[in-house]
Amino acid sequence: MSSPAHPNHPTSSCDAIVVGAGQSGLAAAHALRRAGLAPVVLEAGPEPVGSWPHYYDSLTLFSPARYSSLPGLPFPGDPDRYPHRDEVVDHLRRYATHLDADIRTGQRVHTIRTGDGGYLVDTGDQILATPLVIAATGGFGNPHRPTLPGLDAFTGQVVHVSDYRAPEQFAGRHVVIVGAGNSAAQIGVELARHARVTLATRAPVTYAPQVILGRDMHWWSTTLGVDHLPIGPYLRATPTVPVVDDGTYRAAIDNGRPARMPLFTDIDGTSLTWPDGRAEQVDTVLLATGYRPDLPYLTDLGALDEHGLPLQVRGLSTSHPGLGYVGLEWQRSLASATLRGVGRDAGYVVRRLLRNGSALPAARCCERQPAGAA
Ligand SMILES: Cc1cc2nc3c(=O)[nH]c(=O)nc-3n(C[C@H](O)[C@H](O)[C@H](O)COP(=O)(O)OP(=O)(O)OC[C@H]3O[C@@H](n4cnc5c(N)ncnc54)[C@H](O)[C@@H]3O)c2cc1C
Repeated sequence: MSSPAHPNHPTSSCDAIVVGAGQSGLAAAHALRRAGLAPVVLEAGPEPVGSWPHYYDSLTLFSPARYSSLPGLPFPGDPDRYPHRDEVVDHLRRYATHLDADIRTGQRVHTIRTGDGGYLVDTGDQILATPLVIAATGGFGNPHRPTLPGLDAFTGQVVHVSDYRAPEQFAGRHVVIVGAGNSAAQIGVELARHARVTLATRAPVTYAPQVILGRDMHWWSTTLGVDHLPIGPYLRATPTVPVVDDGTYRAAIDNGRPARMPLFTDIDGTSLTWPDGRAEQVDTVLLATGYRPDLPYLTDLGALDEHGLPLQVRGLSTSHPGLGYVGLEWQRSLASATLRGVGRDAGYVVRRLLRNGSALPAARCCERQPAGAA
C-alpha cells in the first residue's frame, strides 16, 4: 500500500477495523463478516495467533477441547482432552485461514483518533478511516506489577510470569512466587521439581474441582448457565480466583512442594521477612499477578480512564460510539476472556454497535491485501 500524501490523510477506508488478531480479534472479525461487513484486522505480530506462542512451554489448557472452540470451527481431535498451548496456536492459525477476512500482520496500531466522520487508525505505514473499531489486544503486553512490601529494595531478580518459559532457568534457586491463580499454582508445582519454591499469597489458595461427578467443570458451567451470568463484578471482588485442579495442585501445595506462605512484610537486599518474623534469603521473586488491558493506542482518543482502563459497559465504549472491545476480563461473564467465551461476546458487541447505528458500512475497504503483507 502506498504511503499517505499527508500524515493525516487516510490511505483508505474500511467498514470496520479490528485491532489484534488473537482469539478475540478473530472472533470479532467472524462476527463482523456474519453481519455482512468487510473488516480489516490489524495485528502487530507476524501471525494471527495472539499471545499463545509466548505462554510458558508446559502450558496445557484448563478448558477441554470441546470448550476451546471458536465460532464456526470446532477444536479438532478428542473433545474431552486438555490441549497443549501449541495446539491452540495451530487452531488459531487454521481459524484465521478459514475466516474470509483481510488480516494484515506486522501492523501495530499506534494511535486512533476521530476524523472523517468516524475513526482514523494509524499504524505508521497507513492510516485507515472507519466508522467502527473493535479493540481486541488482550493484556499480555501489559503485565501487572503491583506494589509489594519492600520489593523496591529487593536486590535479587524480579520476573513477571509473562517472561517465564521453563523451570530450568531457575534450577537450584529459591524462588518466591506471588499470586494464587492458575499460573501461580501450575508454575509453582513444575518449578518445585527444580528449585526451592514458596507461593506467597494474600489469602489461602482456593481450588475449583476440574471434574465434578464425572463431568468437567466446563460442562457444568455451560449446562447450568453459569457461563452466561453477569457475575463479573462480584467475582472481581473476591480475594482469589480458584485454581482449576484435578487434585494435583492441592496435593503438591499441601505437601509443601511448593510451600505456601502469607504475603511477606518486608525485603532488605535479598533477605525477605515473612509475617511470623522469620527471614529468608531469596534469589527470585516471580510475579504471577496477572495482566491489565493493553490499550495505549486509545489514550489520545480519551477512551480510557486515569488507570488506562477502557470506559466501557459490556464491551461497548461509553465515551465513543462505534468503539467496542472483545476479550476484556469479566466483560460480560465468567467466560469473557476465554476461548469459549469470546465468540458470544463478539457477536453481542457487533450486534449492539450496528443497532446503535454507529457502524453502517459506509465504504467497502480498500483493495484486499494478502495475509502477511504490510
Ligand atoms: C497462562 C495462560 C493460560 C491460559 N489458559 C487458558 C485456557 O486454558 N483456556 C482458555 O479458554 N483461556 C485461557 N487463557 C486466557 C485467554 O484465552 C488467553 O489469554 C488468550 O490469549 C487471550 O486472547 P486475546 O485474543 O484476547 O489476547 P491475545 O492472545 O493477547 O492477543 C492480542 C493480540 O493483539 C496484538 N496486539 C497488541 N497490541 C496491538 C496493537 N497496538 N496493534 C495491533 N496488534 C496488537 C498482539 O500481538 C496479539 O496478537 C489463558 C491465559 C494465560 C495467560
